[in-house]
Amino acid sequence: MKLSIATVCLSGGLDEKLEAIAAAGFKGVEIFENDLLSYGGTPIEIARRCRDLGLEIITFQPFRDFEGMPPEKRARTFARAERKFDLMAELGCDLLMVCSNVAPDSLGGIDRAASDFRELGERAAKRRMRVAFEALAWGRNINDYRDAWEVVRRADHAHVGLVLDSFHTFARKTDLGAMRSIPGDRIFLVQMADAPILDMDILSWSRHYRNFPGQGNFPLLEFMTALQTTGFTGPLSLEIFNDQFRAGAARRVAIDGRRSLIFLLDQLRQRTGIDSSGTAFLPPRSQCRGTAFLEFALDGVATPTFETLLRGLGFARAGEHRSKAVTRWTQGAINIVVNTESQGFAHSFNITHGTSVCAIGLDVSDAAATLDRAQRLLDQPFRQAVGPNELEIPAVRGLGGSLVYFIDRHSDLARVWDIEFDATGDKPTGGACGLTSVDHISQSMHYEELLTWLLFYTSLLDLDQSSEQDVLDPGGLVKSQVIQAADGNLRLVLNASQSTRTQSSRFLADTFGSGVQHIAFATDDLLATVKQLTANGVKLLPIPENYYDDLEAKTDLSQARIDELKAHNILYDREGGAEFLQAYTETFDDRFFFELVERRGGYRSFGAVNAPIRLAAQARLARPAAMPRA
Ligand code: MG
Ligand code: MG
Repeated sequence: MKLSIATVCLSGGLDEKLEAIAAAGFKGVEIFENDLLSYGGTPIEIARRCRDLGLEIITFQPFRDFEGMPPEKRARTFARAERKFDLMAELGCDLLMVCSNVAPDSLGGIDRAASDFRELGERAAKRRMRVAFEALAWGRNINDYRDAWEVVRRADHAHVGLVLDSFHTFARKTDLGAMRSIPGDRIFLVQMADAPILDMDILSWSRHYRNFPGQGNFPLLEFMTALQTTGFTGPLSLEIFNDQFRAGAARRVAIDGRRSLIFLLDQLRQRTGIDSSGTAFLPPRSQCRGTAFLEFALDGVATPTFETLLRGLGFARAGEHRSKAVTRWTQGAINIVVNTESQGFAHSFNITHGTSVCAIGLDVSDAAATLDRAQRLLDQPFRQAVGPNELEIPAVRGLGGSLVYFIDRHSDLARVWDIEFDATGDKPTGGACGLTSVDHISQSMHYEELLTWLLFYTSLLDLDQSSEQDVLDPGGLVKSQVIQAADGNLRLVLNASQSTRTQSSRFLADTFGSGVQHIAFATDDLLATVKQLTANGVKLLPIPENYYDDLEAKTDLSQARIDELKAHNILYDREGGAEFLQAYTETFDDRFFFELVERRGGYRSFGAVNAPIRLAAQARLARPAAMPRA
């Protein structure tokens, strides 16, 4: 299958789109009529540009309102088609994509449509061109691929074929069974799009919310499995209308697109054992055992305050790097790396972003295989010079230019702390706070990046996405997407908002980019943890009294229990019999904060009901300069 993408998916002018598409490694492109109309040059120049970039124009689209026109309009409709053929001749494109008629005066009847297509096929054949028919989910008479196929079948012309479009198929919940019996060579084009399941009119859903395979909720693997049985070998093309994509950088979105198809075809091959894509085998998605470490980039000014906070949280300064200004802090299974180097990656990250998490280390089943898979998925590997007695830890670029490192337990990487660090023998000075592991990591990003990073994580690692949630910030809505391993060993919360006034957006403005905004540590006894933190002088986020009054009204918790939560600024949530307790530190340097959580009875969520309370409490404490100016 030739991997292709429609120009409509990307932002920018046609030149920019074509360059981005070629740079991402696509070999085919669908030219959207509007992109051609708004282009300054001629179709011949577009053809030359595509040739220079190694792109084949697989189709010109869309040709609208064709089949079943009433007799008085029929001749004009065919004349219109001839003009498209003229244009295609200049473009060097042989396939016209015709989508089903939406005109109110169009007439129904499979035979009528078939005879229109037979004539169109005749005209196309004279020019050595072909036409392909797509059932729009909102077509006037034809809105189901099974009817479109019946039209094509009855047209019975070698130059007339079918378009299958996953969006139109799933939007109407059309059964895939009939697809399996369509001969693959009668399918001229397959258009792929995913989408979140939304309860809205199909046209708006299609025009604004389509996304790349793996970013939505359609069962695209079922679609591909059915398609594979047809023997289809033609172009597999992405056709996505999405506001986030049109707001994003063309190059990044094009790479996301190709990554999504590589991932989809990889899943198909895993399932069926048949390779229909001709691309290299990918190592399987990595199992993630947890967070191996979190690395903070700091300068000399912020370091003492940050280390005081770490001590207050109960961390011990367990190791010193043998050759660098880097220390290791531990508690339970948590490792925090404090990097105060005055050169190298962490230093430049600190200059750009200030005090921040510059890298996340993940404990995976096989670090080398994870890096291999990442590269095949077009993720960007990272290497920097390694000194004597240092390990080269496999890494790729993550959110906001940060790094994602891969550590495993069967190579030398397992001994990184012994190899690179001298143990100090330090014990926690602030008393044991009982933090056991990293519960979740929350990252803030620009709205148009959210789908990029969702696909980045889920294509590389064995993680599942849960549905997107809206969280109410005093400054606007924040979209929140959770991705997590089935066993909960890795949980990531991706946040984005379009408002410039939300905490999530202020974080982006203040830190010059996307990154980790908070880290939640798990404890088995939050109350004991919080008491110890308070004794250690750690300032916790004050929660307003009203919250506890409301909790009293909403739950059957005893007054004594509520008073205890209130006295220690602990937030509470419940799911069935499972309970969740959470508390927050004040924000460090107006940048990031820590959360302390206790999960009881298998609680699986993140206390989303409490997020607005937390956000409002943080907004009250934020320094005035961080507040919106108008
Ligand atoms: Mg389509
Ligand atoms: Mg949280």
